[in-house]
Amino acid sequence: MTGPRTVLIGAGVVGAALADELSVRGWDDITVVDQGPLPATGGSSSHAPGLAFQANPSKTMTQMARYTIEKMGRLEAAGQPCFLPVGGLELATTPERLTELHRRLGWLTAWGVKGRIIRPEECVAQWPLLDPDAVLGGLLVPTDGVIKSVRAVDAQLRLAQARGVRCQPQTEVLDIRMDGDRVAAVVTDRGEIPADVVVCCAGIWGPRIARLAGMALPLTPLAHQLAWTGQVPALAGQAEEIVRPILRHQDADLYFRERFDVLGVGNYRHRPLPLSPDDIVSIDAAQVMPSVLPFTEDDFAEAWAETRRLLPATRDVKVEDAINGLFSFTPDGMPLMGQSAAVEGFWVAEAVWVTHSAGVARAMAEWLVDGCCSSFDLHECDVNRFEPHHLAPDYVVARDCQNYVEVYDIIHPLQPMEAPRPLRASPFYEREQQLGAFFLEGNGWERPHWYAANAGLVPGRDIPVPNPWAARYWSPIVGAEAQATREAVALYDMTALKRVEVSGRGAVDFLHRLTTGDVAKSVGSVTYCLLLDEDGGIRSDITVARLDRDEFQVGCNGNLDLDWFRRHLPGDGSVIIRDITPGTCCIGVWGPLARAVVQPLTDGDFSNQGFRYFRGKRAYIGTVPVTALRLSYVGELGWELYTTADMGRKLWDTLWAAGQEHGIIAGGRAAFNSLRLEKGYRSFGADMTFEHDPYEAGLGFAVKMGKGDFIGRAALELRAASVSRRLTCLTIDDPTAVVMGKEPVYDAQRCVGYVTSAAYGYTIGKGIAYAWLPAELAAPGQELDIGYFDQRIRAVVVEEPLFDPGMERLRG
Ligand SMILES: Cc1cc2nc3c(=O)[nH]c(=O)nc-3n(C[C@H](O)[C@H](O)[C@H](O)COP(=O)(O)OP(=O)(O)OC[C@H]3O[C@@H](n4cnc5c(N)ncnc54)[C@H](O)[C@@H]3O)c2cc1C
Repeated sequence: MTGPRTVLIGAGVVGAALADELSVRGWDDITVVDQGPLPATGGSSSHAPGLAFQANPSKTMTQMARYTIEKMGRLEAAGQPCFLPVGGLELATTPERLTELHRRLGWLTAWGVKGRIIRPEECVAQWPLLDPDAVLGGLLVPTDGVIKSVRAVDAQLRLAQARGVRCQPQTEVLDIRMDGDRVAAVVTDRGEIPADVVVCCAGIWGPRIARLAGMALPLTPLAHQLAWTGQVPALAGQAEEIVRPILRHQDADLYFRERFDVLGVGNYRHRPLPLSPDDIVSIDAAQVMPSVLPFTEDDFAEAWAETRRLLPATRDVKVEDAINGLFSFTPDGMPLMGQSAAVEGFWVAEAVWVTHSAGVARAMAEWLVDGCCSSFDLHECDVNRFEPHHLAPDYVVARDCQNYVEVYDIIHPLQPMEAPRPLRASPFYEREQQLGAFFLEGNGWERPHWYAANAGLVPGRDIPVPNPWAARYWSPIVGAEAQATREAVALYDMTALKRVEVSGRGAVDFLHRLTTGDVAKSVGSVTYCLLLDEDGGIRSDITVARLDRDEFQVGCNGNLDLDWFRRHLPGDGSVIIRDITPGTCCIGVWGPLARAVVQPLTDGDFSNQGFRYFRGKRAYIGTVPVTALRLSYVGELGWELYTTADMGRKLWDTLWAAGQEHGIIAGGRAAFNSLRLEKGYRSFGADMTFEHDPYEAGLGFAVKMGKGDFIGRAALELRAASVSRRLTCLTIDDPTAVVMGKEPVYDAQRCVGYVTSAAYGYTIGKGIAYAWLPAELAAPGQELDIGYFDQRIRAVVVEEPLFDPGMERLRG
């Protein structure tokens, strides 16, 4: 046998696709169990209308959809196609939506899928049933279409069975048997199946199955309305199942598809209808199937009125058949993929649409077989991305319901969640409120974006007003805070940055093996380095401060870093990992006058000689014990000052009082972002992800190949020689033309890359955009265009960093 004993729980589109993808990679001891009959098991896949639209702000989701569509296009079940390639049409009935469609086309283009904006007449030509007066335009994507999900299950299971995969329908999983902290078997009503690897592909039942392995899945089944009309006279005699593009009318939260001479109408415009996974009825008790609830007609009234308005041909027809069908929602709208943090061998592939099913399965198969996924960047999908509060049942239901409501909304990249807030607040929160902080939310933290108290700094400064979209969640105060930081000194609340303590006699070796840096330096050293996958992809960029012989403080990007550390712990107890974020806080005190503020307050030597750049030490600031690290993401002299949460407010007050004579201000995230881009500092998740290696991301300096072996080193040796794309700095002369990230970049008419992070640089007086570009277009002086809604913005490749390349400010 090749591969471990593997059991897939669930034979919907996800389980079936995974059986295929795993078996094609050579695993040959796989059993698929499902409580229902095959191929229509009674889960969500059994009644999904299968519309597959590829447009998505997430590159990964678009790529997964594209892969799924391409694969389905090659598959058949009983001679019938699994994919109906009719294209997709998203309509605009309001000017705001038409503008939004341009943004969505930008994502598609950036992620490599073709589409075009079409005029109202062409929308009507594509869909003659449309009221011509209702439509302002549309986004047409020729490669979208319908996935026949039951056929997709059938076809992929047959392929898998031909390779020896066993399918056990009508077999209910009752328990997961463990051997210590690893899976040992799946217990079913037909006996036990020994297993080394179990993958939960149980859709809306996922939380029930995961609980058997002690895992909390932040997933809520929500009922979603799908209605089929009676015969529409205008479609009478239609011989093909579907000829017109699948249709979205997002202004009214509706979608449509044909089925011969009737129309399917999907409706998200109704109150959220969550159901506890424990309340899903059994197959025997279900009237239709367990994932189908009775239709609540009142919830459909608005949708039906709007359908009749948009499609006058439906005015004389009735709804003949309708359901409230259940499917999964998550707090951030992304799938849940990966291995349990606590139980070895227990994996999940959950909250996946039909649209992305084969892509998710491919990613899972690569991850399981090869140890990491090389086809897609999974940092947004990994089930271990969540913080503890994300798993609180109240939070999960509230967020999942809100995501249902917002599924078709126009969401600004900075738009924060409205509830539940506030959740996490730093010890400086009250002081920030007193300064009139405008808070946005990140990972549960209330984060000041700018402070109304700084409004007085604006008059007399040259602070251009950006275009209206970029001007949302913006104030001229942002520019004033950025400039004031470079002129004098500012406090930045850095508490939201994840901090992990790594300690014990094995700590040095452990960090040496996990990171690209040389961390075995003297006590007091600080090292910027990377965590890599086995294939050399960047998992994170981190700052490792050696505070004692066997004690390190590591500045990370999020929970995935913590999870990565825990997975690689030696089994002998020689390394201890502790997330110290909640119990500590951090202020960045930065600017040319930072030393003038801090030195008089401390017993420590904070002179340039006594406290060098990229060094750390413990000291007192007044009465507050701090760990001080001489670093700055804004590119100015200064320190990150860490203390325990109880002393946080005292630290703020001490610095604030001492800073008055130096013109100290509090600075927000928006100024921070502008300053870090002027300095060329990358942000993981936006600028680089799992799919990029250090050399192409401009982070080769953080890799010490000479230090000995580390995770990803072997793969890097191969990658270093072949950099074909580069993370590149562009500037924009037009001061109003501020872009936001994820926009396509064009060389003449050809899309050649996409923007990662962007902001206006208030010191350099230009717009800044970092973008992934082919290496041959990444040379300074290269002129390109950024696609911004329906405009093209001229940009030019420049040398980086834009500010203080000699590092005089930081080292001064
Ligand atoms: C009305 C409606 C319309 C939709 N429209 C679309 C659309 O147009 N496009 C799109 O992409 N997506 C759509 N979706 C979403 C999509 O249907 C689902 O996200 C997808 O089908 C989920 O697939 P799955 O394999 O994860 O889950 P499922 O298909 O639900 O499969 C899970 C399987 O697990 C089995 N199982 C559960 N518990 C046990 C147990 N204890 N023992 C054994 N087996 C068990 C179940 O029987 C089931 O077969 C729609 C959903 C609904 C409800």
